[in-house]
Amino acid sequence: MNAPRFTTANPGFPRIGLHRELKFALEDYWKGRVTEEALLATGAELRRRHWQLQKEHGIDLVPSNDFSLYDQVLDMLVALGATPARFGAGAVTAERYFSMARNSQLQTAMEMTKWFDTNYHYLAPEWSADLPFEVCAAKAVGEFLEARELSIVTRPVLVGPVTLLRLGKSVDGVDPLALLPRMVEAYAALLQALHSAGAEWVQMDEPALVTDLPEEYRTAYRTVYERLAETPVKLMLTIYFGSLGENLPLTFSLPVAGVHLDLVRGPEQLPEALCAVQPGQVLSLGCVDGRNIWIADLAKAYALVETATRELGAARVQIAPCCSLLHVPHSAATEAALPGSLGRWLSFATEKLDELAAIAAGPEAAVQEFARNAELQRERAAAPSSFDAKVREAMRCLDESMFARAESYPVRVHEQRRELDLPLLPTTTIGSFPQTAEVRKARSRWRSGTLSTVDYEVFLKAATEECIRAQEEIGLDMLVHGEFERNDMVEYFGERLQGFAFTQNGWVQSYGSRCVKPPLIYGDVARPAPMTVRWSSYAQSLTEKPVKGMLTGPVTILQWSFVRDDRPRREVAWQIALALRGEVRDLEAAGLRALQIDEPALREGLPLRVGERAEYLDWAVKAFRLATSVAASATQIHTHMCYCEFEDVLESIAALDADVISIESARSRMELLHAFSHFGYPNEIGPGVYDIHSPRVPAAEEMANLLRLAVKVLKPEQLWVNPDCGLKTRGWPEVMAALRNMCAAAAGLRAEL
Ligand code: GLN
Ligand code: ZN
Repeated sequence: MNAPRFTTANPGFPRIGLHRELKFALEDYWKGRVTEEALLATGAELRRRHWQLQKEHGIDLVPSNDFSLYDQVLDMLVALGATPARFGAGAVTAERYFSMARNSQLQTAMEMTKWFDTNYHYLAPEWSADLPFEVCAAKAVGEFLEARELSIVTRPVLVGPVTLLRLGKSVDGVDPLALLPRMVEAYAALLQALHSAGAEWVQMDEPALVTDLPEEYRTAYRTVYERLAETPVKLMLTIYFGSLGENLPLTFSLPVAGVHLDLVRGPEQLPEALCAVQPGQVLSLGCVDGRNIWIADLAKAYALVETATRELGAARVQIAPCCSLLHVPHSAATEAALPGSLGRWLSFATEKLDELAAIAAGPEAAVQEFARNAELQRERAAAPSSFDAKVREAMRCLDESMFARAESYPVRVHEQRRELDLPLLPTTTIGSFPQTAEVRKARSRWRSGTLSTVDYEVFLKAATEECIRAQEEIGLDMLVHGEFERNDMVEYFGERLQGFAFTQNGWVQSYGSRCVKPPLIYGDVARPAPMTVRWSSYAQSLTEKPVKGMLTGPVTILQWSFVRDDRPRREVAWQIALALRGEVRDLEAAGLRALQIDEPALREGLPLRVGERAEYLDWAVKAFRLATSVAASATQIHTHMCYCEFEDVLESIAALDADVISIESARSRMELLHAFSHFGYPNEIGPGVYDIHSPRVPAAEEMANLLRLAVKVLKPEQLWVNPDCGLKTRGWPEVMAALRNMCAAAAGLRAEL
């Protein structure tokens, strides 16, 4: 291969390590098994490895300060001297750092929320007027120097000031913008320190530019970057997770040395960007998908590069992934157990670096890479797994009637009341019962082959029966089977659906030491056989009381997977919905009279731009309706959502037309119900009356008080009584006690009404 023509840059590399070394080091440190020095040494070793790996794979501009022991937003607050005063003042020790990140007996940590539309969670800044803004450049400068020791001159990464402001909340009423003047000086000092250490370029991440910004924040961009332009570093203003839209002219008018664009999510913005780019400005083309795990189409990416080069010349063009590679696993090289050719179509962080190098070299120099890539694109497109004629035919045959129950809720409710014969304020749970060490051990022994399938099933049957007896004894009105056979609410279904595959090591950081291993949806989705009927009907056979069949909804399955990028997400969601529809029919035929289809991730899929939300909500709601509308009127359809904040999507939640929705509401003291009531929510609701995130057993009176609040807001006939969420992380003794109290609270209220 000839020398590359273009500069390659990487905005961030996964920090958890190929073998999740950081996770294990953190957890050992928290348990007191290793010292702080040992933890820091693991961090340093991972940084060294990752810098060298990126260099070896042909990256010219390798990032530093993208590493974090917990979260890059928290690190940014530490660097700026803007950590909340409630955790103490002065230099941030490891103990204080982790106290801000993790709940302890003594103190609640900072609030964690999702990083834009990803599954990464950051710690939300707490803005208050008294923040000192005393700069601490130690980490950013230290890591830059660490890399330079290895002869690697890195481009340090910072979360940009306006994005940082947008990520936090005022805790004392201060307008976050009022903090900006002092905050910008802190940034300027940080940039100065990096420059003194030898940094020429700094990457400023400003993904807030792909969201709808109030005018004051657009103005803030100008003020901030004019001030920062006075520092000697060159800034690469890095924007990802979408198109700039109306913020494009503003972005290119800022005095920065370079702009990075996400051309995977927003390829259409390139022509306008090429008109708006200032003379001398560098344009970084985010042309490899940093959010998904499929091989890039090198020819397609290179076409973007050619377009840009015609206008700017090669020297002003950089090749990069669209965003930090934090959101994909480390390497696909070790995945040996994937079906068919799937392994050849995968590109994790390390493989993406090779793709960047090939694109930078161009098709004439990287002849083999481009040829092989074209061949793989063809192979993937033509693969039998990509296309299932029966599924496509079923999708073509969808008609309006398949998206709506035969009768409306007011008609259904009568049939369901007759069928189910439930008391006022019926009691139920959300699905899972404690996944004890014993349950997990049995599953892992079965998976590794030391427990036979027959013995594992005997074990599961016993666990399910015990769970049914426990619920009868407690006096719950609608029972569940307990979900002992399930590891994870998405994985369980993925393992039983055609079109899904599982990696062995495809871990992605979710927050801190927590990683998830999302399934891959690589082909047309179908249901070769019933997935849950056996356990649900077994549970129902044990009791006279109605048992709820438990399914995970199509949007949640989609949202928590890596989804094929050759079909629209809507289509994949509807394919999953069709598969679930078959399951609903089979569960009903097996005698289940109530079914719950969980959709906790419905709200997560909301596009960042308000203007794009209606379209998403439309197909997401239809996916749920497609899965459920096959149920007879007398079959009660439940859904469940946790993680609050539904106010802005209530219309869509009502449009799901579930007969019953259970929501998390204990911690907010039923606050959410006001929104439901205000909206005139027509169907039934089970507001959670106790928080399942802690082992605390609330007294019956405490739950009764919450119910009293609820009956003031909603009609008693509309209300159910249940915990906030599933009980799988809890222990049996506390679950028994809490549910007994819950049933007592419901009985008490029935007597009052
Ligand atoms: N049915 C699931 C359970 O109880 C729901 C989990 C969830 O909402 N995240 O575990
Ligand atoms: Zn939940």
